[in-house]
Amino acid sequence: MIKRYPTKQIKVGNVLIGGDAPISVQSMTFTKTSDVKATVEQITKLHFAGADIVRVAVPHIEDANALKEIKKQVSLPIVADIHFHYKLALIAAEVVDCIRINPGNIGDKKRVQEVVKACQERNIPIRIGVNSGSLEKQFEQKYGQTPQGMVASADYNIKYLEDLGFTDIKISLKASDVQRTVEAYRTLRPMNNYPFHLGVTEAGTQFHSTIKSSIALGSLLLDGIGDTLRVSMTGELEEEIKVGRAILKDVGISKEGLNIISCPTCGRIEADLVNAVSEVEKRTAHIKTPLDVSVMGCVVNAIGEAKSADVAIAFGKGSGLVMKKGEIIAKLSGDALINKFIEEVEFEAKRKS
Ligand code: SF4
Repeated sequence: MIKRYPTKQIKVGNVLIGGDAPISVQSMTFTKTSDVKATVEQITKLHFAGADIVRVAVPHIEDANALKEIKKQVSLPIVADIHFHYKLALIAAEVVDCIRINPGNIGDKKRVQEVVKACQERNIPIRIGVNSGSLEKQFEQKYGQTPQGMVASADYNIKYLEDLGFTDIKISLKASDVQRTVEAYRTLRPMNNYPFHLGVTEAGTQFHSTIKSSIALGSLLLDGIGDTLRVSMTGELEEEIKVGRAILKDVGISKEGLNIISCPTCGRIEADLVNAVSEVEKRTAHIKTPLDVSVMGCVVNAIGEAKSADVAIAFGKGSGLVMKKGEIIAKLSGDALINKFIEEVEFEAKRKS
């Protein structure tokens, strides 16, 4: 049983973060934000993929100016990602649902104060986004790009905002490797109760990012750390959401959707299981009801495995079995076998929803 660290609850648009709110899944567009059409298209794609929140980069004035129009065309809450330019943060704060800055790199306190005031006026939070690769000079010189440096930077930025009376904060502490990321979050966790945004930065391709993010985010979530997350990936945006949701499911936090148990295959296999499992995944992707289903390559282990599955399929020589809670309900072959299995999965999902 995971005991979540009790955090302060904040709100990004209509999404609650922290406290007892469900752990939300985020992503970030990679269009030029000034290109409204392309950015809206990506946000819409992410929305359909199941994102709760989306972040957009705001490096230039034309990006900040585009936010108003983008906001009109999408319903996902938007976080504006800003470095250095407080004026961009001021424009963004009039429109978006959260600002990601590091107060330390915005400049003198007066400028930060203006940004804070703008956020207070609209009641929107600030995400302090610490990255190991862009620590403030004083922390990099003292600690290098270490978890200690990341924690010192986060603590400094938190106090910066607290001194200005601002506590509507969430924090991220990202490094590009698992160990530093996990150590930084674990070290900072007992030092405050602000919600944490989890992520490994520049995590690499879909393959590497999935592994790094699963280990880092999985370890932290099992510790009860984390209120929202992003899986960073060089690849398709929808995959970020898919992997993020799968991490939450496999850690045991989210119960949504199918838990597909499939065998690794061996010399006893009686079917093209790789294609069969991928067909099952595609045809059941829309199901949100929690169900255990198993897809087995032969009948050797299938009967035993099927006992704990809501619906199971086992391929045999020339024909196969469809089972429910271990009980054989059909013996079929070819397309009829897999169609019957999907039909039973749909039926169970409806019955249990
Ligand atoms: Fe091999 Fe059959 Fe077990 Fe799959 S279910 S791994 S095919 S014995």
